[in-house]
Amino acid sequence: MRLLMKFGGTSVGDGERMRRVAEIVAISRREGNELAVVVSAMTGVTDQLIRMANEVSSSTKTIPLDPFIESLRERHIKALMIAAPDHMGSVGPLLDERLESLKNILTAVFNLSELTSRSRDYIVSFGERLSAAILCAALKQQGIPSVLLGGCEAGIITTPNHGDALALPMSESRIKKKIVPLISTCVPVIMGYMGCTEKGIITTLGRSGSDYSATIVGAGMDADEIWIWTDVDGVMTSDPRLIKNARVVPSISYLEAMELSYFGAKVLHPRSLEPAMRKDIPIRVKNTFNPTFTGTLVSREGHVDRRVVKAVTIIEKVALVNITGVQMIGRPGVARTIFAALSEKDVNVMMISQGSSEANISLIIEEAHLENALEALSSVQKYGFFREVTSDPDVVAIAVVGAGMAGIPGIAGRIFTALGNAGINIIMISQGSSEVNISFVVKTAEGKRTLQILHDEFHLSEAFHD
Ligand code: ADP
Ligand code: ASP
Ligand code: MG
Repeated sequence: MRLLMKFGGTSVGDGERMRRVAEIVAISRREGNELAVVVSAMTGVTDQLIRMANEVSSSTKTIPLDPFIESLRERHIKALMIAAPDHMGSVGPLLDERLESLKNILTAVFNLSELTSRSRDYIVSFGERLSAAILCAALKQQGIPSVLLGGCEAGIITTPNHGDALALPMSESRIKKKIVPLISTCVPVIMGYMGCTEKGIITTLGRSGSDYSATIVGAGMDADEIWIWTDVDGVMTSDPRLIKNARVVPSISYLEAMELSYFGAKVLHPRSLEPAMRKDIPIRVKNTFNPTFTGTLVSREGHVDRRVVKAVTIIEKVALVNITGVQMIGRPGVARTIFAALSEKDVNVMMISQGSSEANISLIIEEAHLENALEALSSVQKYGFFREVTSDPDVVAIAVVGAGMAGIPGIAGRIFTALGNAGINIIMISQGSSEVNISFVVKTAEGKRTLQILHDEFHLSEAFHD
């Protein structure tokens, strides 16, 4: 089989884990598979880089960079020593060189007191630059020939939207040309999360973007399957950190996975489904710490079990915005004006609900965008389209997901009866036209209880049947 394997941050969090990952790859290759690997930064490193970039750009006092660089160095060198001791001499200096470049760019940002989105992307890409070099050496340590590639070198060409770039269609042929000849003789280790513009400027694909790198590369190399290795047994019926009896879903459709990830299931990046779906490549989500377990298969069909609801998810850190005022009734173009103003301020609208009287539009947006949203709305209020804007950041969005819900009456009734019986107040409801999900909003304090009630209502902790 031709496989693309992606390993997330926790899977390469230290030297032991890197070694374990290298063993997984080595076993698969010895079984006769052709493989390419995409890897994330070691867990926590991207967060540290973002924090440091923000700090140096906004501080008026000199920030000592040496301890920061030294702590990164220590962690990565230690991992290298454990996972690839024979390659210390060649890869150690490479890591040092990269850390020196990182220090230089952080110093430049401090001197300029300015962090452009372009330099931010360059800085945050260092997590993957370091981890991939170690994993490449760890594979060699296992006797597997391996080459190290940046996202751009692998062929990922993106839009210039720094921090949230999209792969351009031309990536596909570039990846094919670069990766396919390599996999017959070695395992390319590709730095996740990053690509570059047509002009060669480094971009990043959004937080958790290595999943997206994986499916872009998997699609480009015409992989038979894309395996996303993480720290849980697969896609689960709910966030296992919140719902203790959450269970692995053996198989789901691309569409279900897309809804789940869009509504907060961190295990897959929402954008990662599209490249796989386009080429009909199945995705397997597997656990590095339990590698023989089958995990979850994400595919076009996705129906192994006939149950209607497969998972319940939560998105935290969102805010509700209510736009009210009778002036909206019957006036065309009001919604367009509102959404144009929001989009100009880069506000991402996640859910919309409009009352049938048209006297009210409710939106769910990322909490971090609330200030911009309120500014945008106050700038169009002068047209007199609406009377009042109110907001509430103390809310969460919940989604109930399952392709089996389509056309089955009574699911919404069951959801809202169960919550009504528990005294949980629903603040806003929205149903996608795909009928694959029903999503609604409750107060933050009720979020976890809401998840548990619905998980129980739809018996999600019970075994799935083939
Ligand atoms: P990686 O570092 O491998 O990319 P992530 O932390 O991005 O891993 O995603 C895996 C985590 O997603 C799991 O540890 C789990 O806590 C969380 N998670 C949230 N919702 C779900 C879900 N429905 N199914 C599986 N994992 C979930
Ligand atoms: N390292 C990046 C992040 O933390 C990308 C990823 O892990 O997928 O967001
Ligand atoms: Mg992830």
